[in-house]
Amino acid sequence: MSSLSELYQQVALCQKCEIARFRTKVVPGEGAEDADIMFIGEAPGWHEDQQGRPFVGPAGQFLDILLASINLNRQQVYIANVIKCRPTGNRDPLPVEISNCRQWLERQIEIIKPRMIVTLGRYSMARYFPGKSISKIHGTAKKQDNIIYYAMYHPAAALHQQSLKQTIESDMLKIPVLLAEAGNVQETKPQPQQLSMFEV
Ligand code: URA
Repeated sequence: MSSLSELYQQVALCQKCEIARFRTKVVPGEGAEDADIMFIGEAPGWHEDQQGRPFVGPAGQFLDILLASINLNRQQVYIANVIKCRPTGNRDPLPVEISNCRQWLERQIEIIKPRMIVTLGRYSMARYFPGKSISKIHGTAKKQDNIIYYAMYHPAAALHQQSLKQTIESDMLKIPVLLAEAGNVQETKPQPQQLSMFEV
């Protein structure tokens, strides 16, 4: 059994949070175990809870289009969320839920070893870009511990605010450029690396 399958079995048994009692299915994540790019969203919504798969509702359909715009599909990347159970009534995740679920996300990153982590929305952004504002840092990246962290608006933002659609689309197009650029540059520690497109 693969490491991810083992992890999925463990996540399915997790009852640390109250919301675990109300889930239809746990939504650990999906995609390639050796993916270069890992997308991290917020939490499962109604559709995801029904299917046990991340980003399968309207926001997910837009994410699929965004992936296609850089010649990728969801089997070639890895898609996860900060928390693995649907918050009741689609409310925002609670700090305690984020902290309870942290071990699962950490383990996913350990297994996949992505070259790039793309944060979708403010909850995953808060984790890797603490204190930053999405309106300021979307479309920018930093490199730390050999991983490129790249902040994007959540795809659902385009569904609520049409004006963000183009912004999200053009931020997506930078991903292959960043990956290619990072391959050619040595990381300098301890400061996060500043490349031409690495602005944070
Ligand atoms: N929004 C998210 O953040 N994650 C999903 O899986 C679906 C919608």
